[in-house]
Amino acid sequence: MAKNEKIAAVKGMNDILPGQSERWQWLEAQIRELMDGFAYRNVRTPIVEHTQLFVRGIGEVTDIVEKEMYSFEDKLNGERLTLRPEGTASLVRATIEHNLLYDGGKRMWYIGPMFRHERPQRGRYRQFHQVGAEALGFAGPDVDAELILLAVALWKRLGLTQWRLEINSLGQPEERAAHRAALIAWLEQHQGVMDEEAKRRMHTNPLRVLDTKNPAMQDMVNAAPKLLDYLGEASLAHFDGVKAILDANGVPWTVNPRLVRGLDYYNLTVFEFVTDLLGAQGTICAGGRYDYLVEQIGGKPAPAVGWALGVERVLELVKELGTDIPAPRLDAYAIVPDAAAMPQVLRTLTRLREAGVRVQMHAATVDGMAGMKSQFKKADASGAHHALVFGADELARGEVTVKALRDGQGAQTAQRLDDVAGWAATLQSAR
Ligand code: ATP
Ligand code: MG
Repeated sequence: MAKNEKIAAVKGMNDILPGQSERWQWLEAQIRELMDGFAYRNVRTPIVEHTQLFVRGIGEVTDIVEKEMYSFEDKLNGERLTLRPEGTASLVRATIEHNLLYDGGKRMWYIGPMFRHERPQRGRYRQFHQVGAEALGFAGPDVDAELILLAVALWKRLGLTQWRLEINSLGQPEERAAHRAALIAWLEQHQGVMDEEAKRRMHTNPLRVLDTKNPAMQDMVNAAPKLLDYLGEASLAHFDGVKAILDANGVPWTVNPRLVRGLDYYNLTVFEFVTDLLGAQGTICAGGRYDYLVEQIGGKPAPAVGWALGVERVLELVKELGTDIPAPRLDAYAIVPDAAAMPQVLRTLTRLREAGVRVQMHAATVDGMAGMKSQFKKADASGAHHALVFGADELARGEVTVKALRDGQGAQTAQRLDDVAGWAATLQSAR
């Protein structure tokens, strides 16, 4: 790269700038409140983990581990490390490492960037963000349902209406083994319509073959043996338990027998929230039960269930549906005719901010202060509801002029500099 040449962001990795970041912060605030309401506690794990965690946790024959991970060797000690492609494996590792289940189940949530080397397109990025909710140590269908209701409560808060919930049950390992044998036998008889990837996965991960998006294979996979038909009584009872709670809460669902999820670790309940408004990348939230993962990562066996949602996709849907997002409001803009007044201006602004006022200061240039007209223009453009004019005459009287820029436009009052607390509230009254 030549010196002075512009350096752009890495492909598929986005800047989140003012104008968008307000939407992110709004979403994050909604999520925090909601998680508090369901007693889920926040966890923050490192972005880099040992590669082996994901190989073992997610499964070797998955899209993520086969081709999407950003892995590298730590130059200093030769360790194989990976930028996390998802959050569950890390959360489970942390749970085991810190023995969090010693006194019973835990409900936790996380938010943060994830990294997958995918072909960038709408709703699919190489750095994207997930919010995840996970309940570890609980075996019953009530917690599966609680997690689904948590997501539904979030959609409600965000004003999201156009989604549907697809559910399925993957049963238990023995049931999957019986189905797997039948499925492999079926696939072997239908190799004629299978693509190369499917043929390669037929023996290593046949369930994933059912997940194919290849149109030429749809008839074949639709007719393939269904895992649901291989479930025993206990698995079916668990599935019915989830459905009964959803029904009691008026949450509509449909069973999609082909829903198997991209990650290897699921059993029993799996689910996805899907929308038609986002084109091909229509899954906004996905999850399920993963009772064997804790043990697989080296912990004492413990049941677990959780989901992850894609923040970019959810925000895109919020935009599609035109949900109103309250814009952050600026109360006041400080107009300063003479830079010599700056020490006194900033002292006053500090007191105003301590009293809760949001205020932006007009900054000096190397040539001093801009003219009043241009400062008022900036004040208008800032969206502030009041201008504070720190003119020399006012300051000499120990005062500042407060001028309304929006409601009651033009009205002005003089306020005492030695009594900021006395009038600060009037600047916030319209908020
Ligand atoms: P897909 O089938 O779309 O690739 P996935 O099964 O790989 O999804 P999960 O690993 O279950 O996705 O991740 C949970 C959620 O995270 C997805 O439903 C989606 O909303 C979001 N997500 C996954 N990958 C990306 C990505 N590359 N860019 C943006 N969001 C993503
Ligand atoms: Mg994927």
